[in-house]
Amino acid sequence: MLRYLIVDILLPLLVFALLRSFFRGMFRSKREVSRPAQQAQPPSQPNVVVGGELKKDPVCGTYVSIGASVTRTVDGQLLHFCSKECRDKYRAA
Ligand SMILES: [Zn+2]
Repeated sequence: MLRYLIVDILLPLLVFALLRSFFRGMFRSKREVSRPAQQAQPPSQPNVVVGGELKKDPVCGTYVSIGASVTRTVDGQLLHFCSKECRDKYRAA
């Protein structure tokens, strides 16, 4: 009688609990995998460098920080460009 009780009631409960914890663990691990990937992308724009002095791009008028700018010396004056394209445009002008 006790054996039937174990097989009919406790065993299904045990299997159900194991399956439930298994699926819960699977969903949790999926969530943990996807979460760091979302955090890896910074919320701010990648082109904007925090801090540093801003210089105006003479070609397109964009303000770029000195650390992130493309520089070129013209007549002894150091110019800052937002991109190589702007630097080349300035050279061509
Ligand atoms: Zn530019």
